[in-house]
Amino acid sequence: MPSSTVENYLKAILHLQGEGRGSTTVGEISRELEVTPGTVTIMMRHLKERGLVAYEPRRGLSLKPRGVTEAMKVVRRHRLIETFLVEVMGLDWSEVHEEAEILEHVISDRLLDRINEMLGEPTHDPHGDPIPDRNGVVAKDLAMPLLEAAAGRYRVVRVSDEDSALLEWLNEKGVRIGEEFEVSDSDRAAGVLELSRRGGKRVQLGLQVAGQVFVESVA
Ligand SMILES: [Zn+2]
Repeated sequence: MPSSTVENYLKAILHLQGEGRGSTTVGEISRELEVTPGTVTIMMRHLKERGLVAYEPRRGLSLKPRGVTEAMKVVRRHRLIETFLVEVMGLDWSEVHEEAEILEHVISDRLLDRINEMLGEPTHDPHGDPIPDRNGVVAKDLAMPLLEAAAGRYRVVRVSDEDSALLEWLNEKGVRIGEEFEVSDSDRAAGVLELSRRGGKRVQLGLQVAGQVFVESVA
């Protein structure tokens, strides 16, 4: 089994079990990775033998501590590579996710350490995702989806890195990490959320986009 395949499974489980319950299912993994449930089941037996997942057929499955550490290493590589591609190579934040999906499986620890040093040991990637440290420990993310934000003042702290069209659209609207906006909830019933900047320029977001932009409240 190529190690990149194992790594993608570990990363997918980490992502899925992170959303609430602390466990996931064969069905969810099969949808996430677009493979058949049978293929997932075979892989889960393999990962169980390697001590990376806790898995009983027809019950929830989750990463064991070793599995979490391995998955976090891949996440660290992914996020450092994205940061390198933007900060050093000058790529746009909408262009780097797909590249990082490939490079995260092939880059050596030595090169990664060098990249980390060169970047000044960054804590977050260009999309605002926290970068796990060498031991796979990651800062807790307290951001909420813009979708759930009541009227008030917020700072953009993170956006989903997977949808390049979304990132290009945010470029056009000038929505960036660290920017502050006032949210008014007046149009929410119509499926639109409105942000206004201090300068007065307004941006309207569809609710689906607002689910992929994460903010924290500004006191
Ligand atoms: Zn990414």
